[in-house]
Amino acid sequence: MKSLLARVTQWSKESPSQRRHLTERRSLVTAMVAASATLMATLTSTMFKPARAQDNQNRKIQYGMVIDIRRCIGCHACTVACKSEFNTALGVNRSWVEYVEKGVYPNVGRSFLPRLCNHCSEPSCVYVCPTNATYKREQDGVVIVDQGLCIGCKYCIQACPYDARFLDPNTGWVDKCDFCIHRVSNGLEPSCVNTCVGGARIFGDLGDPNSEVSRLIAQNRVTVLRDEMGTFPNVYYIAADHTDELDARRPEVRNVRVLTHRRDKQRR
Ligand code: SF4
Ligand code: SF4
Ligand code: SF4
Repeated sequence: MKSLLARVTQWSKESPSQRRHLTERRSLVTAMVAASATLMATLTSTMFKPARAQDNQNRKIQYGMVIDIRRCIGCHACTVACKSEFNTALGVNRSWVEYVEKGVYPNVGRSFLPRLCNHCSEPSCVYVCPTNATYKREQDGVVIVDQGLCIGCKYCIQACPYDARFLDPNTGWVDKCDFCIHRVSNGLEPSCVNTCVGGARIFGDLGDPNSEVSRLIAQNRVTVLRDEMGTFPNVYYIAADHTDELDARRPEVRNVRVLTHRRDKQRR
């Protein structure tokens, strides 16, 4: 910037081609500074909005899911159904199933952990989005991405503690699970629920005390992923063993939540 300003004072000494070059560079710098200022202003105005938390508490319908690990056989039918529903690119998933290996031979075991966006009540992804492309729907609490507003900055990917979001390599926009809202709004279940052979995924309104999801939560011990993050996930697990092979080597640890926002190969 300093050298650029110095060059501006030498304007009269420059040749026409040098002036044109200098003008282009100055326009570029001005545009970059303006864009940065706009971005920072938007960021500071959208982050840390306590009013949103109040909105969430007053929400009448909050769609959510209960995943009963006792019924999950790790078949990945849900992963495939989701991929088919949205034709997601190779290498990215809206929903998937983690395998957690534990123990030392011959006392080994494997548990399954179906994953998707938690449609959190305090979604950190929403609070950091500079364009409001990602937001929590007033009518049902589903967190979605308006891809027409997404600029692909990836702030939301960094902010999500669950690795639930990805940049679609085909579009350059961020994508993630939206509870198959196009199906739900037409009276259908999300595709992963519809296809789950074990009946392990149950979808419904957590705000309705008579819904099956509310009944399951009331009648069973449930956990959520990484509740220490304060995001208040709306996906609940029954009998999930949130431990991994590292925890298995520490006998004093009986129920440690694994860092499930990381893929298995990165966990070691
Ligand atoms: S799981 Fe991640 S992407 Fe989904 S609502 Fe929560 S913070 Fe946002
Ligand atoms: S990548 Fe898109 S949805 Fe995510 S924070 Fe940036 S603009 Fe918002
Ligand atoms: S389809 Fe159902 S049983 Fe199969 S892996 Fe997914 S959640 Fe588990």
